[in-house]
Amino acid sequence: MVDNRLVIAVDGPAGAGKSTIAKKVSEILNVEYIDTGAMYRALTLKVIKNGIDSKDVKNIIRIVSSTSIYFKDNHIFLDGTRVDEEIRKNIINNNVSNVAKIKEVREELVRMQQKMAEENNVIMDGRDIGTVVLPNANFKFFVTASVEERARRRHKELLEKGEKNICYEQILSEIKERDRIDSTRKIAPLKKATDAYEIDTTNKSIKQCTDEIVNIIEGR
Ligand code: C5P
Repeated sequence: MVDNRLVIAVDGPAGAGKSTIAKKVSEILNVEYIDTGAMYRALTLKVIKNGIDSKDVKNIIRIVSSTSIYFKDNHIFLDGTRVDEEIRKNIINNNVSNVAKIKEVREELVRMQQKMAEENNVIMDGRDIGTVVLPNANFKFFVTASVEERARRRHKELLEKGEKNICYEQILSEIKERDRIDSTRKIAPLKKATDAYEIDTTNKSIKQCTDEIVNIIEGR
């Protein structure tokens, strides 16, 4: 357990609603929100912008140590530039898991994440937060939803952002592929921590899920 601080870990697969819920919980409990997926996405954006293939491990390792990724006022900055919108594009969705499975990438980003959580009350979301990044968190949650529901949400989100030429079936198969890579990778695979509460968001509103988490934390 972490003394005198509130440290909350939220993990789960793509599109389960982790970020939306974690952000709301952070506002209710007045703790800092850290979206670790955004950090892997920012690095992936740099990889793509540099014309590096997401499977080119050697060149990705070469750029990771000279990359600056940080949050300021809930925005994410990559080498000093705000990249909130760019990192949500489908090309990032489809390459990020390759970048995130590289050992040296994880070592560097996990180190940054642990530093960010060092002195503050935090809620951090990702895939390996309860298992690797913050194993001593006071509360751990594993947020899930059926793969069809997750694909439906992601499809809607991309259409709303103006992405064209994407159909539901394509997103469904892309999400399945991302789940496969994230859950079967050698280092820090997506896995429910043994001491995590499971929250299935499939047929629940965001408010219901947020209330469920806040009630557990407040011991109601
Ligand atoms: O949470 P989000 O979908 O934005 O994460 C994007 C990707 O980043 C995940 O599919 C996963 O490959 C990687 N990731 C990770 N570890 C984390 C957070 C995200 O490997 N803690």
